Amino acid sequence: MRKVWFVIFCLFAFVFASNSAASLRAFEAGGRSFKLETTAIGSAEFVSLFDLSKAIGGTLTCDEWTRCLEMRASGKSFRFMPSSRAVLIDNDDCLYLPNAVTEIKGDALVSTAFITSILPDYLKSSGGAKSGGTSGKKLVVIDAGHGGHDTGAQGGGRNEKDITLDVAKRVRDLLTGMGYRVIMTRTSDVFLELPDRSDIANKNGADIFVSIHVNDAANTAACGTETYYLSKVQVDNDYHARRLESSSYGYELRRRWKALTAKMKSVLRQQHYQTTQQKSKLLAEKIQRRLASAAGGDNRGVKGKNLSVLRNSYCPCCLVEIGFISNWSDRKKLNSSAHKQAVANAIAQGIKDYLK
Ligand SMILES: [Zn+2]
Repeated sequence: MRKVWFVIFCLFAFVFASNSAASLRAFEAGGRSFKLETTAIGSAEFVSLFDLSKAIGGTLTCDEWTRCLEMRASGKSFRFMPSSRAVLIDNDDCLYLPNAVTEIKGDALVSTAFITSILPDYLKSSGGAKSGGTSGKKLVVIDAGHGGHDTGAQGGGRNEKDITLDVAKRVRDLLTGMGYRVIMTRTSDVFLELPDRSDIANKNGADIFVSIHVNDAANTAACGTETYYLSKVQVDNDYHARRLESSSYGYELRRRWKALTAKMKSVLRQQHYQTTQQKSKLLAEKIQRRLASAAGGDNRGVKGKNLSVLRNSYCPCCLVEIGFISNWSDRKKLNSSAHKQAVANAIAQGIKDYLK
């Protein structure tokens, strides 16, 4: 196997050496200093995964059928797929490289950003997994549902998009006061596609993602709060999910998924469902417990649903419905600043309960 890789590498090195695009660069990771041949492709710089594995005393294995590459070093597992920016670490964290792993003549090239910005965090010590980005503070991404031309539900002259933004800003301020880092998917009345919302969480390595919404029902007696976590139970028969998939962001989702190979999709999906779903459910429970007592109305509980905005987030995530715009009493409450503050406080406290 190593021999094959070596031959492939030599062939590859020869091709690139003859293109004069390769040069030697010094790196440091996991207490080792080493030099690797780098290859410039466009404005990006790459190194061979095989070279890198050797340099840090690790191993590289390749599943030739699925083309999934696994590098093991310092007791950590890093999984890569050609044409994907995703790196799956210990089957738990999914981080993104600035450039996709590129496969040239059987060799896999990874962005040097992997060595400079991801590897050091994991090779520092065997127990030192990263969390919450570089500052050490947990990172929460808060998503104010809808925005721009997408008003969300409407009732009594009010738009869901305005209520969600108001509450989201309050949650942000409360969480910041508690010492968390917070990124909002939007801070003004703008439209964002659903995949872009979860991408913000994915790209920033968020610890959790919470989407805030206001409910709507034909039955105007329906009132109170509920919190959703991602469940694939409804994948095949959920009308709402099907409608989402056939819309414009459904197209965008399919385009992005197409760029990944089948194995990576299944690895990511499996990872998401198995690891994240349980955490997401716990997060939803923590928030709903606080929210139900603060918001009043019916406690409609925690529910699993196959929602697009949750499906594409690789960290624990949930969607909070803070009341019904279609219900007179809920709507009246959501007009009150004091009530919105209480709701925001419940969400922030629930997040804190989870992150503890
Ligand atoms: Zn909504």
